[in-house]
Order: sequence, then C-alpha cells, then structure tokens
Amino acid sequence: MAAEPYNAFAIAQAHFDRVAEMLELDSGTRTLLRQPMREYAFSIPVRMQDGRSEVFRGFRVQYNDARGPAKGGIRFHPLETLDGIRALAAAMAWKCAVADIPLGGGKGGVVCDPHNLTPNELEGICRGWVRQVARDIGPYQDVPAPDVMTTSQHMLWMLDEYETLAGGRFPGAFTGKPVSMGGSLGRREATGFGLVFALREALLRLHVKPEATTAAVQGFGSVGQAAIAMYHELGGTVIAVGCWNQADQKSYTFRRVEGIDLDELVSMTDRFGDISKSRAEEAGYEVLPGEAWLEQDVDILIPAALENQITEQNVGRIPDCVRVVAEGANGPTTPEADRELNRRGVYIIPDILGNAGGVTCSYFEQVQSNTNYFWEKDEVIGKLNVKMTSAFLDVAEFAEKKKLSMRDAAYVIGVDRVARACRDRGWV
Ligand code: GLU
Repeated sequence: MAAEPYNAFAIAQAHFDRVAEMLELDSGTRTLLRQPMREYAFSIPVRMQDGRSEVFRGFRVQYNDARGPAKGGIRFHPLETLDGIRALAAAMAWKCAVADIPLGGGKGGVVCDPHNLTPNELEGICRGWVRQVARDIGPYQDVPAPDVMTTSQHMLWMLDEYETLAGGRFPGAFTGKPVSMGGSLGRREATGFGLVFALREALLRLHVKPEATTAAVQGFGSVGQAAIAMYHELGGTVIAVGCWNQADQKSYTFRRVEGIDLDELVSMTDRFGDISKSRAEEAGYEVLPGEAWLEQDVDILIPAALENQITEQNVGRIPDCVRVVAEGANGPTTPEADRELNRRGVYIIPDILGNAGGVTCSYFEQVQSNTNYFWEKDEVIGKLNVKMTSAFLDVAEFAEKKKLSMRDAAYVIGVDRVARACRDRGWV
C-alpha cells in the first residue's frame, strides 16, 4: 500500500472486514467483495496546445456488477491514485445497493488538474480515456458519470468518442450529459437535493424543525450549491461556506452570520466553483481560514467537497452544538473522527446514503436515455425524493433495530444486498 496519510482503500477494506464479520459472510464472498472484480490502468497521450505530447494516467475500476452494470463517476484530480479509485468504486457498489437501484459499482479517474488545461486538452483527455476502455464499458457493462472536476461537457465528449468507436448511438452509455443532449433534468442538482431530503428525514426523527437550524457547508461545487438551495427551501440558514481558492492554493471559509446569499456567492464563482475572495470581502463576507467551516456554532455540518476532511486532528474543534453531519462528499470523515462523532452522539448521514441522490438520478437518466423518453423536472425530483426517503428509512430503522451507527447500518444493508446478488447468481 502507498504510504499516504490515509490510504483510502486500506480504510475501505478494514471497514468491509468489520461489516463482513457482522454479516457472517463466508470466506468466498468475503474474498470476492473485498477487492475489485476488474480494473484498468492506462496511459492517455494527449497533444497539448503548444504541440508537445503529454501522457496522463487513467483508471477505471469495476468493483462489482452482480446487481447491474457497474456505475460511478470519473474524477479529474492531480492527486488521484488507483487505491483512491478502488475505495470510491467499492463505495459505489454499496451506495447503489443502499439506494436499491439495479446497478453495480465502479469509478474512474485521470491524474490531471483541469485548472491548468485548455478545453482542447481536456477534450483530448476525455476522448483518450474512452479509447482505452471503450470495449469494456457501455450501457450494459459499465456506465460512467461526472464526479470531482468533471462536467456534462466532459461526458458528452466521452459519449461521442464511445459512439464513434461503437458505431451507433448509445445514449445510455454515460450519464450526467447536458440536458440538451440526452441528460436528465435535475441531474445537476440531484446529489445536493437528495442529501437534503435525507437531512429533512433525520431532523424529523430528531424532532428538530429545519427552519430553526443553521448549517455550515464545505465545498461550493454542484453538490454544495444544490444542498444549500434545497436546505434554504426547507427554511434553514447557511452561515458559512468553506471553499478552495485556486489562485492562493488554499481554502477559505466565507461567513455571514445572518445567512449567506446563495445567488450572490454563485455570481462570484469561477467555473470550478472557487469563490472570489476579493469580491466576497467587498460584499461583506468575513473571510476566515479554510477549516473554520467546521468550528462554527451551527446545528448541521455538510461536508460536500473531498475525502478526509473531518479528521482525528480537527474533530475536537467541532462545537458541541453540532447535531448532524450530512455527508455530501465521498469519505469526508476519517474512521477516527467518525468514532469521536459517534461517541458524542452526533447524527451522521453517511456518504453512501447521503450522496446517493446523484447516482439515483443517473439511473433515471439511463432509463430515459435507453427508452428515448424524457421526464419533466418535477417528475425526476419527485421520484428522487421517494427513493431517498425510503433509502433513509431503511437505514435509520435498521440502525435503531440493531443498535448500529447510521454508517454501519448503511454498510450492512449495502454489502448484504450485493452479497445476496452474488449468491443468487451462483458466483459464491
Ligand atoms: N459521482 C457520483 C457519486 O459519487 C455519481 C455517480 C453516478 O452518477 O454514476 O455518487
């Protein structure tokens, strides 16, 4: 294993082992489910703007497809590793099972920093990624989607390359496409909206009125922004947003104690969701250090950026008034921090439940693409609400019945459903 401070896949396997023990899985099933079924690692040569060619490293991991075609995003990030992708692919398998959609789990990535790439170079990476895996993906094998720093435009370039190679039109081969080109209405907002649907149910269980709550959010990409929009709709007040600043190569927290104005902050962001520090200051926001978002006197924390953000080192700075952590990101809480939050009785909506709205809407998009019949936005969001509410209730009721944390309950349900599919197919 690589000597990273947090090896995401080692953490995922340790967690899986604990869940396998709780489920008393036999050794064949454990061996099958504690590692990816298939994985691809490859080079993507790209002709850069200045005529040089640069080679990027790309990955696709198909963790398990017993319940349906592998499903999961493709991330563009300079610090991407194969182990990171493996961990995220495993999480996708459990997530799709918790959401109870007929899909398996996968994830892909490219080691690159889109901030420093031109649109042509990004298109080259997207098309090059597809050329390496075209034979092994597709509507009935593996369906990629956007993730960190990838967009609907990237999905369309990828789909175009796939369809060129496959010789036909296969709109269900990618999700997260532009709405004008076979995407689903509501897909962009789905992860954030879904998270807040789960949060609404959690607050109901805690007998807390959403309109009496405040929240701090980390991340101002599509997940963070949509979560804030839906939380505001429930009547809550977001007082702080933590956000990466590319120019300064560090994060800041933008605070306004009487409540942030979402549209105003959106108008100050660039295409990566970085908020302009000078414009925010001019508009009267306090600009605090990056981690300040988790020290605010709020009821709810919404980490909606990257993994490993709430750690053993900073968990002690989360004030006692925080009652709920709703995980919009994948893996934002390290296991040590998770234990501490559980000890303090914080109600955690774990990632594989909380952010399952994205892939659930991707499933709706696939259904629409495959049948070439598109739904109204209200219908999409209504169906998302139903799926998220029932996934939340499955997990919350199981957690209460078995006296498990919400995270353990979600993992037990997810792993159990995948294990059953493997057994039912006669694999183990
Ligand atoms: N990237 C999102 C996730 O982590 C969505 C994946 C998908 O839509 O396939 O859940």
